[in-house]
Amino acid sequence: QRCLSLIKATKFLNAYITVAEDTALKQAEESEKRYRTGQTLGNLDGIPFAVKDNFSTAGIETTCASNMLKGYIPPYNATVVQKLLDQGAVLLGKTNLDEFAMGSGSTDGIFGPVKNPWSYSRQYREKHVQHSHTENEDSNWLITGGSSGGSAAAVSSFTCFVALGSDTGGSTRNPASHCGVVGLKPTYGLVSRHGLIPLVNSMDVPGILTRCVDDAAIVLGILAGHDPKDSTTVQDTFKPFELPSFIDVSKLCIGIPKEYHTPGLSSETLALWAKAADLFENAGAKVVDVNLPHTHYSIVCYHVLCTAEVASNMARFDGLEYGHRSNMDQSTEVMYAATRREGFNYVVRGRILSGNYFLLKQNYENYFVKAQKVRRLIANDFVNVFNRGIDVLLTPTTLTDTIPYLEFIKEDNRTRSAQDDIFTQAANLAGLPAISVPTALSEKGLPIGLQFIGQAFQEMQLLTVAKWFE
Ligand code: GLN
Repeated sequence: QRCLSLIKATKFLNAYITVAEDTALKQAEESEKRYRTGQTLGNLDGIPFAVKDNFSTAGIETTCASNMLKGYIPPYNATVVQKLLDQGAVLLGKTNLDEFAMGSGSTDGIFGPVKNPWSYSRQYREKHVQHSHTENEDSNWLITGGSSGGSAAAVSSFTCFVALGSDTGGSTRNPASHCGVVGLKPTYGLVSRHGLIPLVNSMDVPGILTRCVDDAAIVLGILAGHDPKDSTTVQDTFKPFELPSFIDVSKLCIGIPKEYHTPGLSSETLALWAKAADLFENAGAKVVDVNLPHTHYSIVCYHVLCTAEVASNMARFDGLEYGHRSNMDQSTEVMYAATRREGFNYVVRGRILSGNYFLLKQNYENYFVKAQKVRRLIANDFVNVFNRGIDVLLTPTTLTDTIPYLEFIKEDNRTRSAQDDIFTQAANLAGLPAISVPTALSEKGLPIGLQFIGQAFQEMQLLTVAKWFE
């Protein structure tokens, strides 16, 4: 009830698209009954959680913040949602995002942009918001980053204890960094994608947003493991783990990728990154500079592969099976075209067009196949570094702290999005686990996260290092 009233009190953040008040209260009552009657409790019994609105939820509208799916009520739960419900967790509702998770701002969905709760922190307002009582009063509000901005804002504003996001190129870690929460992207294949409406099948992973690293580890323990409904999940059984309370980092080797010193990185983020490296060094860890020489190809490589998969994935939205269908039904062709024109925003339509261009017979080798080869080179950069004894990489998550919405929309949105993913996309191309952990506040009083990238399926090590740091 407290979470639900907090959701109402923070409605202006626009973090939630759907609040499942009735079912949430019912689930909470059942949980309370289990507790009172001494029944065995699930690992998350009674814990309220939120889910990004690109995961299917049985009986609850799932929109992907798109006109295409507005009104669509899935008949089943995504595996990750079901696993949380099976442990007694209480589903509060569905969170806001960029349409079909394409973006880095959470500004591009049909329900409007998500506001970063830090826009209302005293330090930021005292220094950066002119006091006035006009309608402009709120004009300096900040973006959450994205595309899982609704989930990040939901955790950051204390309306839930954990929220699911998705991470294809950074969409969990980017808003986590901007909203001052923990954002974990697991190894590709560790957590089921069944019921996550796809963006890029070969890179999508469900992400976990929490207030601390221990919470992320608990939730990962529940979500991870094989799912017969997702053939890309690991076959081995995953043993949930608890993070140690005493952590010794003195035997660790931390890598600092040279190529991540990139234009656009703010001096504040750079300083925090260096300070974090010193912290590890002072605790006895070895901190070494490493090379990931293909880093600067990752944005274009991601773009080609992402749009190619988008072109194919979005073909299912044809007005026949799901959601929106145009009234223009002179012919099937006309209906298809009108449905897709009315249903998708300009970002989605743009990506479908680019993707189909890269997949044309005469372009396929030069773009799609080449991008796949570059992807392998990017993945091999990591393999080489880890083979040389590096345990974990330490990098920034984002170039700067968050910025006001009015500034964000001034620039070419898509160019900025692309630049902002420079530190996060390579981990998706390589399938590696990565986590963003809040560090200090910027001079403006806004959160800045740093990222650790780990070796495939070495989440225990990654999370242990992150916990020591947090
Ligand atoms: N910003 C990237 C994109 O727009 C990543 C999105 C994501 O991880 N879902 O594709």
